[in-house]
Amino acid sequence: MFDIETIRTDFPILDREIYGQKLIYLDNAATTQKPARVIAKIKEVYEMYNSNIHRSVSKLAATCTGEYENARKIVCEFINAKNTSEIVFTSGTTAAINLLAFAFGEKFVNSGDEIVVCESEHHSNIVPWQLMCERKNAVLKVLPFDDRGDLKTELLDELLTERTRLICVAQATNVLGTVNPLDLIVKKAHEKGVYVLVDGAQGIQHLKTDVTTSDFDFYVFSGHKIYAPTGIGILYGKENLLEQLPPWQGGGDMVKSVSFAKTRYSDLPLKFEAGTSNYVGAIALGEALSYLIYIGMENIHSYEKNLTDYALEKIPSVPGITIYGTSENKVGIASFLIEGIHHADMGEILDKMGIAVRTGRMCADPTVQHFDLTGLVRASWTFYNTKQEIDKLCEGIEKATKILKQD
Ligand code: PMP
Repeated sequence: MFDIETIRTDFPILDREIYGQKLIYLDNAATTQKPARVIAKIKEVYEMYNSNIHRSVSKLAATCTGEYENARKIVCEFINAKNTSEIVFTSGTTAAINLLAFAFGEKFVNSGDEIVVCESEHHSNIVPWQLMCERKNAVLKVLPFDDRGDLKTELLDELLTERTRLICVAQATNVLGTVNPLDLIVKKAHEKGVYVLVDGAQGIQHLKTDVTTSDFDFYVFSGHKIYAPTGIGILYGKENLLEQLPPWQGGGDMVKSVSFAKTRYSDLPLKFEAGTSNYVGAIALGEALSYLIYIGMENIHSYEKNLTDYALEKIPSVPGITIYGTSENKVGIASFLIEGIHHADMGEILDKMGIAVRTGRMCADPTVQHFDLTGLVRASWTFYNTKQEIDKLCEGIEKATKILKQD
């Protein structure tokens, strides 16, 4: 049974007060809070079996390595990859995309080839591709979105050519909250022999994700957006593709043997895990996913859908508000502005009421520029938030507006 009161007690920080008011945490698209059992798992590693993985023969090292590889299995099952060899631990979404931009670029991209990114992407899914295109003398093309925040997929037939190697698209976008039509994009891309990278940073925690059935070639996400610590993330890639890519970084653990004549790389996935990895973070990510499985992803999805339907009906009714991102298909994100009020002022006053939101350009300049703005306020919720908190947000925006309009 999904009991919201019990769920909330699983997250110790939600009990905190900010400026004497109960915290209302609505900045979940930036990072999520951590359940007590994830925090306890980190303590367990350091108190019971901390030891560098894949190296020594000690009991500690064997336990730690076992926990790390078990976390890989949990991730593999969570996204329904075929094999743990397809699951690479990275430090986050950004690192995973940079890894791929280097390795994919080296293997598959030649001068004059094309990479497509969407206008609504996070900087992490734009800049690594710009760097790669510069290095390989390739061309970066952009799939635009319309004023609701929906991708103009009707342009794909023209945009994808025989020179296109990859299209990079978010599962859900971080400013507008749009859930992108991945089935259609994957189908159109694969018809033309184009690979697909899906950025799951805003999708994995809210949407059913099955990389095999969806036929994604590459999929990336960050642990900290799915109730795990910072500094850990995942690069999924189809085995036959990862096999063909060269390593990104060299160092310990990614080699079978080293000599000045010939160095032999490790098999997948270790080929891409140079150096001491964030094994504590990986183990904690496994724990976070186990917690979600225990709560039940279907329960989470249906609770969130109900909350999102409520919020997306309620927030637009605040006087003077404009919502940016009005697609039919959205995750729990409302980016907005109140006429005549600067986003940073609104964010600061909400904070004084104990309401944490994000303000600014949200690492998505092209999205903000699309609407000719300098920034937005973003409220983003998840399965530990409530309708009462959405009501408080709406009251808070109205109160803040009155205060700011008096100045
Ligand atoms: N892509 C999207 C859609 C995001 O929302 C974020 C984080 N805001 C990232 C990429 C980058 O994630 P990280 O900073 O964890 O690497």
